[in-house]
Amino acid sequence: MGPPAEIQSKESAAEILRLSLAKLGQLNQPVTAINYALIYSYYSGDDIDLNNKLDEFFLEKEQWSEDEARELFEKYLCRCGTEKNRAMEQELSSIVAQIIGMVIDLSGRTMISSDALETQLGKLAGSHDPGTVLHVASEIIAETRNFVDDTKNVELSLRQSTREIELLKDELDSARKQATVDALTGLNNRRGFDRALTRAISSVQDGERNFSLLILDIDHFKKINDIHGHLIGDKVLIGIARQLFKQMRGNDYLSRYGGEEFAILLFNTPITSAFTVAENLRKTIEMLRLKHTKTGQHIGKVTISLGVASYNPDESAEDIIQRCDKALYRAKSLNRNRTVLAD
Ligand code: GH3
Ligand code: MG
Ligand code: MG
Repeated sequence: MGPPAEIQSKESAAEILRLSLAKLGQLNQPVTAINYALIYSYYSGDDIDLNNKLDEFFLEKEQWSEDEARELFEKYLCRCGTEKNRAMEQELSSIVAQIIGMVIDLSGRTMISSDALETQLGKLAGSHDPGTVLHVASEIIAETRNFVDDTKNVELSLRQSTREIELLKDELDSARKQATVDALTGLNNRRGFDRALTRAISSVQDGERNFSLLILDIDHFKKINDIHGHLIGDKVLIGIARQLFKQMRGNDYLSRYGGEEFAILLFNTPITSAFTVAENLRKTIEMLRLKHTKTGQHIGKVTISLGVASYNPDESAEDIIQRCDKALYRAKSLNRNRTVLAD
C-alpha cells in the first residue's frame, strides 16, 4: 500500500506532509493524490529507485506532466491494473484530506489565533494558484507542528515539576512525621516525649527501676504576651527552656510538651527525688530576672507551677499524664509558683 498507510505517528506524518506540500508548492505542481503520493514516498524514503528517479526530475525538469506522474506512480507505487489504480487514487485522496483536516483541526483548537487561521483558510479557498495554496497549507502545518512541540514541552516540564513537588511534599511530610525537635526551643517535642514515655514504661515492665514525670507550666504566661508582645513571649519561652535544660542531669528527658508547658522524664528516680528536682527548677526560674536584650526593658519575675508523679505499675501513658496534670492543676489553684505531688 502507498506511503500514507505507513504513517507511524501524527508527528512524523505531519512533518512529511508539510515537506511534501512545500515541495509540491515549490515545483508548482497541483496536489493531486498521485503527486502527493509520489512526493510523500520521496520524503518517507521508502523506495530508493523512486527517489533517484525523482531527483533526476528535480535536477532536469523540475516538473512532470500528469502522464509522467501516473507512469511513475504505476511503476513505483502501485503495480496493479487501472481499476485498482483508480481505487487507490481515491483512497489516497481521502487520506490526504484526512491528514490536512487533522492538522487544521489541531491548529483550530489552540495554536493559530482563529482570526489568523480564517485569513489563511480564506486565502486557500480564494486561490487558484497551487503554489499559493500549498505555501499557505505548509505554513499552517509548520506552525501547528511548532505549537504541538511547544505544548508537549510545557506539558512535559509541568508533569516533571508536579512530580518533583509531590516528591518534595512526601519527603517533607515524612520528615515532619519523624521530627522530634521543637522548632522554637530546640528541645524534644511532644512526639519525642510520647515515644520516650512509651519506652520508659516498657523498660519498667522489663524490670528497669522506676521513673518519675514532671509536668510544668509557666504561670500567667498570657500576661507576658499581652504586655510585651508575642515575640518577647517567644524569647521568654526560649530563655526558660534554656534554664531548664541547664538543670538536667544524665539521661533526663526534657521536652516542650505544648505551648508554655514542659514535661520531664526522670529515669531511675523515686518520687521524693523527683520532688526535689521540681522544687530546684521552680526556684531557679523564680530567681531569674528576665530582660529584653535590645531595649534593656525588664520583663520581671516569671514563675512556674509543677505536677510530679511516679509511675505506678501497670498504668498506661495516659494514666500517668492525667495524674500528673491533676497535680499541676492543683498547684495552679493553690496560687501557682508551687510543686504538687500526684495522688
Ligand atoms: P496559667 O498561670 O493558668 O497557666 O495562665 P497562663 O496565662 O499561662 O495560661 P493560659 O493557658 O491562659 O495561656 C497560655 C498562653 O501561652 C496563651 C498562649 O497564647 C501562650 N502561648 C502558647 N504557646 C506560645 C508560644 O509558642 N509563643 C508565645 N509567645 N506564646 C505562646
Ligand atoms: Mg500557663
Ligand atoms: Mg498552659
